[in-house]
Amino acid sequence: MSESAAPEGPMVHSARMERAAVAAAEAGLAGLLVTPGPDLAWLTGYQPPVTERLTALLLAPGRRPQLIVPTLERPDAEHAPGARGLTITGWPDGQDPYADLVPLLDPRGRYGVSDNTWALHLLAFQRACPGASFGAFTELLPMLRAVKDAYEVERLAAAGAAADAAYEDIVRLRFAGRRERDVAADLARLLREHGHSQIDFTLVCSGPNSANPHHDAGDRVIQDGDMVVMDFGGLKDGYGSDTTRTVHVGAPTAEERKVHDVVREAQQAAFEAVRPGVPCQEVDRVARQVIRNAGFGEYFIHRTGHGIGVTTHEPPYMVEGEHLPLRPGMCFSIEPGIYLPGRFGVRIEDIVVCTETGGRRLNNTDREILVVR
Ligand code: ZN
Ligand code: ZN
Ligand code: ZN
Repeated sequence: MSESAAPEGPMVHSARMERAAVAAAEAGLAGLLVTPGPDLAWLTGYQPPVTERLTALLLAPGRRPQLIVPTLERPDAEHAPGARGLTITGWPDGQDPYADLVPLLDPRGRYGVSDNTWALHLLAFQRACPGASFGAFTELLPMLRAVKDAYEVERLAAAGAAADAAYEDIVRLRFAGRRERDVAADLARLLREHGHSQIDFTLVCSGPNSANPHHDAGDRVIQDGDMVVMDFGGLKDGYGSDTTRTVHVGAPTAEERKVHDVVREAQQAAFEAVRPGVPCQEVDRVARQVIRNAGFGEYFIHRTGHGIGVTTHEPPYMVEGEHLPLRPGMCFSIEPGIYLPGRFGVRIEDIVVCTETGGRRLNNTDREILVVR
């Protein structure tokens, strides 16, 4: 799992930009416009601040990638890992960068725009080039980053191992008598100690709050007898982690143990369904069937999973209606849950990568119900 085994460098970024331009052409697009964020980082390695000053990468089939940057940030752009594959032009304060873009665009073309591009910039693209049309990457090229190469899978595995180590540490600490937000702060600290540079979420949902899948972490004081759902993740070396375990403070009741077992069986069954060619929705169906058979179908109120890569939530989605077949290198969560309103909930989540022969888990902590203090 050495992180230097498959170095990321200019060749990787040039290959990704080439792949993106080809995918754009295949989708009938004149090109792609990418502003700072995960897509730009993945394509070029460049991660400038996200501001009102326009930074935009233009990828068009058959053309050299062009990066437009504020002149004051040009030295940073020139040191980006993928800079050798780019033509970089600066625009000084006082000049209209959108007008600079116009001669580079097909006036009637359709362009893909990175999902997180600020409305401020997109509206300016539309004003500058009113005959062109623009659509979001997720709609036009949802699978652009979905298949990970071996280097990316190992980065995701390292992030998963770090999240697992944070979990092993947190369950040794005391829960009863502490607020959810205090346990969440410990989780964030532990993720950082295990190498995360960015924390995206540290959900700690105790007692009745565990029945709310998107409860964050609040002032509730955790008590003996509580179920506690912990769902946490972030970025380590540019790649995401996201894992959930549900623990119990003191000995669980027979009903709590039963619900936990059903979720664990659903998670395991969905994991075993992973192999190339299986439609994404099948992973959801398999998990849902186990929960339905146990009589809890109406209490599994969200999709089974989402992709992960340089962000913690991205395509492909393990959801009814997603017919896309799994391919080796796709990385995604499997996270079924049961939520009994006002009472308690259970969720178990691992990141899984599809390999040639089946699924490989990137989270490997025990999935049995764990009793904490
Ligand atoms: Zn309990
Ligand atoms: Zn999660
Ligand atoms: Zn997740």
